[in-house]
Amino acid sequence: EDSQRKRKTWSAYEAPQVQEARWQHSFQSQLSDALLNGEIWVAYQPQLDLKTNRIVGAEALARWSHPKLGNISPTEFISQAEKHQRIERLTLYVLNEAIGRAAEMLNHIPGFTMSVNMSALLLHRHDLAGQIRALLTAHGVAAQHLTIEITETAEIEDSDAVRYTLAMLREMGCRLSIDDYGTGQSNLDYLTRFEADEIKIDKRFVDNILDSKRNREVVTSTIEMAHRLGATTVAEGVEDERTLTILSDLGCDVIQGYLIGKPMRFDNFMIAVTSAQPSSGRATG
Ligand code: C2E
Ligand code: MG
Ligand code: MG
Ligand code: MG
Repeated sequence: EDSQRKRKTWSAYEAPQVQEARWQHSFQSQLSDALLNGEIWVAYQPQLDLKTNRIVGAEALARWSHPKLGNISPTEFISQAEKHQRIERLTLYVLNEAIGRAAEMLNHIPGFTMSVNMSALLLHRHDLAGQIRALLTAHGVAAQHLTIEITETAEIEDSDAVRYTLAMLREMGCRLSIDDYGTGQSNLDYLTRFEADEIKIDKRFVDNILDSKRNREVVTSTIEMAHRLGATTVAEGVEDERTLTILSDLGCDVIQGYLIGKPMRFDNFMIAVTSAQPSSGRATG
């Protein structure tokens, strides 16, 4: 009798762990289905070289168009995927798509680079570099056309496995980028731990560059430091011409943002980039 009552109580109130387990289960199967159904796709956002005024690359950004829930933001589903061990599959999906598209872009823009976001959680996988090499080979893309953006959703472990992956990627010839520079806890630490080829200046600093002298100083010294370390700089989230002008004056190498183009489906990206390229080098979303 006692146990019966208990069972009733439990069924009326679902413990958070049970709810979490349910969500986890449904999320895992939904994400796996989403990959198979094509609900997950990759958007491409153009990157403009400020010296040449030409599109020189793109960032691949994951998108989930859920049939019931609508568009789910990557900030939401990436963190869920990281929590529920689905990030590897998702990342390999994005890598495969993006490298395939890089091969197409290289027919139009010889030095094109494709940037793909990499969760820090995956860097300790000993097979990651090998998997990337296999994808590059399969698509016939040289490693220097792939930039791995290391995003700090999780702190980068300072382990042998991580050092091995980063060293392997560099040895292969992939470019390494530190994403959202300045917003994490240990970005300066990263600079000393591996040789980054690129630093992406977070939108937070870029946004205030017009109004805040302090922000301008921070951006100026970040660009200078990057150059001293042999790295290029990419400014994120540039939305207006005045910001572009300041960044150009400060010696920033590349910009990315709505001013140049929003993240878009590849077909639109190709049209925007190839039609804009010969004249102005400016693409619109
Ligand atoms: P992120 O790597 O810093 O990507 C830049 C974000 O800024 C993108 O948001 C992009 O759409 C947005 N953005 C670009 N230009 C502008 C602008 O001018 N104005 C404004 N307001 N926003 C702009 P998105 O696509 O929502 O992605 C959010 C984050 O999700 C990314 O930030 C990245 O950290 C993560 N993410 C996206 N795709 C992947 C992926 O395939 N793997 C992993 N691990 N993370 C991903
Ligand atoms: Mg990024
Ligand atoms: Mg970023
Ligand atoms: Mg960002």
